[in-house]
Amino acid sequence: MPDTFAPIYLDVAVAAPIEQSLSYLPPADTERSGLLPGMRLLVPLGGRWLTGYLLSVSTRKPPEAEKITLRRAARLLDDEPVFPAALIPFYRWVADYYQYPLGEVIRTALPGGLAPVSGRRCLLTPEGRKHLAGSEEVGGLPWWPGFFEKGELSPAEAKKIRRRSRDNRLLEGWERAGWVAVRHELTGATTRVRTELCYRLCGTALGAAKDADLARSLKPSEKKTMELVRSLLLAQGFEESELLPRRDLLKTYPGAGKAVKGLIDKGLAEQVEREVARDLFGERPPRYEPPPRPTAEQQVVLDRLLPAVGEKKFKTFLLHGVTGSGKTEVYLRAAETALEQGKSVLVLVPEIALATQLEGHFLSRFEGQVALLHSGLSNAERFDQWLQLLRGRRRVVIGARSTIFAPLTDLGLVIVDEEHDGAYKQEDGLRYQGRDLAVLRGSLAGCPVLLGSATPSVASYHNALAGKYELLEMKQRVENRPLPEVDLVDLTRVPTVSGQPPLFSPPLAAALRDTLARGEQSLVFLNRRGFANLVICRDCGHSVQCGKCHVTLTLHKGRNELLCHYCGHRNRADIVCPACGSGALMPVGFGTERVEEELARILPAARIGRLDRDTGANRTDFLQILKEMHAGNFDILVGTQMIAKGHHFPRVTLVGIVWADGGLSIPDFRAAERTYQLLSQVTGRAGRGERPGRVIVQTHQPGHYSITLARRHDYRSLYEKEIGLRRSLGYPPFARLVNLR
Ligand code: ADP
Ligand code: ZN
Ligand code: ZN
Repeated sequence: MPDTFAPIYLDVAVAAPIEQSLSYLPPADTERSGLLPGMRLLVPLGGRWLTGYLLSVSTRKPPEAEKITLRRAARLLDDEPVFPAALIPFYRWVADYYQYPLGEVIRTALPGGLAPVSGRRCLLTPEGRKHLAGSEEVGGLPWWPGFFEKGELSPAEAKKIRRRSRDNRLLEGWERAGWVAVRHELTGATTRVRTELCYRLCGTALGAAKDADLARSLKPSEKKTMELVRSLLLAQGFEESELLPRRDLLKTYPGAGKAVKGLIDKGLAEQVEREVARDLFGERPPRYEPPPRPTAEQQVVLDRLLPAVGEKKFKTFLLHGVTGSGKTEVYLRAAETALEQGKSVLVLVPEIALATQLEGHFLSRFEGQVALLHSGLSNAERFDQWLQLLRGRRRVVIGARSTIFAPLTDLGLVIVDEEHDGAYKQEDGLRYQGRDLAVLRGSLAGCPVLLGSATPSVASYHNALAGKYELLEMKQRVENRPLPEVDLVDLTRVPTVSGQPPLFSPPLAAALRDTLARGEQSLVFLNRRGFANLVICRDCGHSVQCGKCHVTLTLHKGRNELLCHYCGHRNRADIVCPACGSGALMPVGFGTERVEEELARILPAARIGRLDRDTGANRTDFLQILKEMHAGNFDILVGTQMIAKGHHFPRVTLVGIVWADGGLSIPDFRAAERTYQLLSQVTGRAGRGERPGRVIVQTHQPGHYSITLARRHDYRSLYEKEIGLRRSLGYPPFARLVNLR
């Protein structure tokens, strides 16, 4: 008896809040060979139809089958797996550790366009038509427009009707009465792979350019087309037998369309549909040439790291390298080694640091092998990138925290840049810490994990000192460039202007003026966007708040809006006082928008750019501003932490920090650590080129240790101070904190 006749059972994680996976019978008419872990199925659960993820297929009867009758899955949703089966243990571990349903973990892990939901299409039966013909309304609602003509309700319409009638059982009622037949189907975004038409030379067209017989048998246009295909390919460094997109051919020779048909008829060319990854980069990022040789410190680090990558064993390294020490080059060499072993590489960066040099370096070094996953992608683009990785067409992925779920098999190295960054924490839905998952994924895949930072998190550094991670250090900047000089300005001693310290103290204003006069660039940093962070009533003192969050609203002057930075709620700015009706509302406090305005006032000749979430929210705008800065079109760039991370602006010689204290008053045990990290990072943007850099920090707390230590670039002392505090207070890493909300 062939075993295809033995009953088979499916273990399925359903995308619903249930803890365990469930057993189902396979869909009718499905061969066992067509059922692969990683495929999605439509499965019944109670009265609903949901997406399920196939975990395994077995002939062993599951224990629950003794107690209940197993239901049959309706159908397979995929012809091939959408995630590798090798990732299932990882998903299970995540579900267990973060106490989240397995099916929901997998749903979160998959790209957006892959999570369709089921809907109900209602087909009007003859019975229903007869019965309902005379009636004006159904379920308390006027008849849905077009229902009678079309004879059906789409899933979206059916949902709308049910919601409007406030009767959840409405459709079931109609179905029971026999008025409609309900068909379950999937709705929501489903993405198609985009393809492009390509041509390829074949037969005697290959390597026979000088064949006289062949040449004579061709029309001039055909001959020209054939030669063009060959030369376009060779010019791009491809073999003449490679695929050439039709678009490229027609761009150079618009008349080629007909000629190429002739070539195909003669068996000299063929037409191929090729899957394309959508162009994510708009324009190509600049090319970065590899440096001639590693620095001495890089070499020491590589001597420890590369053998570990070669050994393909799990081990975590913490690379502590000061800003400008060349960490990127270490990542690149380690990645290269992994790729040489036929392995793949996963790189996590904080969202904000995407599109920076790191990405450009990887794209240059590993051309055609890098996939990018970030929040600027549409569902379709994300899906494309996902497929490229799943099918092993690209073996390097760079992305923000959720990239930790990328479908790479044969992982050879996981890199987490700026490992200390708070952006690795996912704060809603499935809550996780991307850096911790990176270590986990490395351990399950059996490959090294490389965490890098100029200011490691206290937790990681603690692990390194305890011997859990191997510590690698780079203390010098490349080419022995000095770390910048940092001067503090005590705002409590700066003469006030109408009761408030000026935004720019005399030393900072003077330094900005001098830098401008020398034709060099400055960065001005303030980690608060908007114009004023408080709007108060001059008559009654009321401060305007968000009705939902009870926090003060921030004035965004350019948009003429009052914005809640918590929930995103917007209000027009030209309102009267909600408490007393007075029109005398007054902005207090400051944000980047105000800083920009004030700068323009004191340095009218300066060309000023601003980068924050108001100006650089989408990737195109973000890249544009960075490009202008690199091109030297700005003298000064004002910004929030968006300017702090990862950038390498060789012409920046001055960094001004308008107010360093913002993060210190936040009630978080990591406030001092964060402040140190942010200050070091911004400070690290100065003096990365030939000329040394200078930093001016304005603060009300010039004695605070996170500020004085950042000034001295003294990470070790910061660590000692923090770890001491945490030990005595019983905070992480000496305990685990769980936040119940
Ligand atoms: P980090 O990430 O540690 O702040 P980067 O990786 O951005 O530092 O490196 C700083 C600069 O030094 C970059 O412009 C990089 O191209 C350059 N660089 C890195 N390694 C070398 C090297 N071995 N020789 C010369 N220049 C290097
Ligand atoms: Zn008022
Ligand atoms: Zn709000």
